[in-house]
Amino acid sequence: MIDVVDLTVRYGVAVALHAVNLTVADGEMVALIGPNGAGKSTLVDTLSGIRRPAGGTVRITGRLAHVPEGRQVFPDLTVDDNLRLGGWRIRNRDTGPIYQILPGLAPLRRRRAGQLSGGEQQMVAVGRALMARPDVLAVDELSLGLAPLVVADLVRHLRELNAEHGLAVLLIEQNARLALDLCSRGYVLEAGQIVASGSAAELAASPRVADAYLGAS
Ligand code: ATP
Repeated sequence: MIDVVDLTVRYGVAVALHAVNLTVADGEMVALIGPNGAGKSTLVDTLSGIRRPAGGTVRITGRLAHVPEGRQVFPDLTVDDNLRLGGWRIRNRDTGPIYQILPGLAPLRRRRAGQLSGGEQQMVAVGRALMARPDVLAVDELSLGLAPLVVADLVRHLRELNAEHGLAVLLIEQNARLALDLCSRGYVLEAGQIVASGSAAELAASPRVADAYLGAS
């Protein structure tokens, strides 16, 4: 689905990503964890074509949709119109299936997105991405600023989409515990470089990840 080889991205002279290698296979859920400023958003932005690589290659098989950091819903548009925007490129205007997948959105369909809670807006952002009928979803900071119960609901939906629709997911998260719990495999990005990768269990057990990202417990 996603095959990133030796990817380097620069902002002027500053190197944001340095020779990054990462893959997401068909139907796989993969975590990308790392601290603030590590380059996680730069990586997803490059996957979705918002940024150009200075070196290396990005290959995407099938359709990628991006749930951007901070949701970025259109506050003055209704939920239904926000969803429609996600289907614009493939001329998909049928929002019905999204309300079946994310039933919490159904009673909100005529509300302006700006009036919704953070969790509801995140649900809109996920639904909007699904309107593009993606094979793989890149989710940038799913949990940021949301209450644990709201996050649990979003996670449940991602699991269902993966299990029932075979949707592959690249989950970018500062909450490493959540990411490694949801995903089968992961990468750790620090200062623009992949410093560790492996199964979620391997990463969770590695002292480097446990100390820096999972906290002492
Ligand atoms: P966060 O979760 O805080 O967004 P991140 O891991 O997603 O962090 P990026 O936003 O990708 O990190 O940033 C990677 C590096 O690139 C940082 O050092 C950041 O300051 C720098 N950077 C990001 N965007 C720009 C830009 N438009 N111009 C210059 N430098 C940038």
